[in-house]
Amino acid sequence: MYVKFWGVRGSIPTPGPKTVRVGGNTACFEIQPGGGQHFIIDAGTGIRELGLNMMGRGNIGRVDAKIFLSHTHWDHIHGFPFFVPAFIPGNKFKFFGPVNFNEKLEDIVSGQMKYSYFPVKLEHMASTIEFIELKEGSFSVDGVKITAQYLNHPILTLGYRFEYNGKTVVTAFDTEPYSNPFKKEEKHEDFDDFLFGGSDEAAAQQDEGGEDPVSEGDKIAAEMNQKVKNFARGADLMVFDAQYTKEEYPSKIGWGHSTIDDAIEIAIEANVKRLAFFHHEPTRSDDAIEGMERYINEELKKRGAKDTHIFAAREGMEIDV
Ligand SMILES: [Zn+2]
Ligand SMILES: [Zn+2]
Repeated sequence: MYVKFWGVRGSIPTPGPKTVRVGGNTACFEIQPGGGQHFIIDAGTGIRELGLNMMGRGNIGRVDAKIFLSHTHWDHIHGFPFFVPAFIPGNKFKFFGPVNFNEKLEDIVSGQMKYSYFPVKLEHMASTIEFIELKEGSFSVDGVKITAQYLNHPILTLGYRFEYNGKTVVTAFDTEPYSNPFKKEEKHEDFDDFLFGGSDEAAAQQDEGGEDPVSEGDKIAAEMNQKVKNFARGADLMVFDAQYTKEEYPSKIGWGHSTIDDAIEIAIEANVKRLAFFHHEPTRSDDAIEGMERYINEELKKRGAKDTHIFAAREGMEIDV
């Protein structure tokens, strides 16, 4: 499989001299499994440059690509209105993305192209564009086995596991480790009170021999985290969210992003060969990201994980898996 990154930044594009080495475009990369399939992961602003590149590939009007959306936050769809191949008749695009509670995937993606926001509507793009809504599970697209896995983000978000010809690429962003919602010191105090009428009742419930919500919450969080690790197990390449450092994380709990220490943990525990950390924090300079790589290498050395490779995804980076 061949992977190329076109946008690696999280949240908002960050052009400027401090980000030229790592890149400032938002989430987009392509996967070419090797049998002529063409998959695009997310449609952040990186997809604009990918589209221009595709226009030079000699198959104008004959493109047949699948676009897998992790979710529909802006930084994962806001490049699509600028994706030139979607304007070319004969080209075919099929979006796959998570089903939403109250809105169709097509309406969310095309909503950003209403006249209030953009001069051209989605239906005026001349290519054929279809939308497939996904839930968790396994299926096959163009001979590639794909497993979709729910992640921990404020909106339904999917990670994807692509398996083809004995190789595996896994994507897991935007996501943070699951934590126990019943722990007072962590968060969701209101939610706890709502469910259990405050800690007194929870304690009373425990005294009466009922389930202890705190230890039950720990168990569920651990199971959910284990599920994501199993989903990543043995990947040849994993693209993982590591927006924060562990020092930054406490003020960002619940925002749906992981730390570089989470990246180290999942890479080692799920036996991932190469992990590209991705969705870089907008304020992070090239120097800071390279500093994160040095920290990771020291940590991996300390833990004796000499077969685990972790590096920052960079715009333009190509990986043969
Ligand atoms: Zn994002
Ligand atoms: Zn998001």
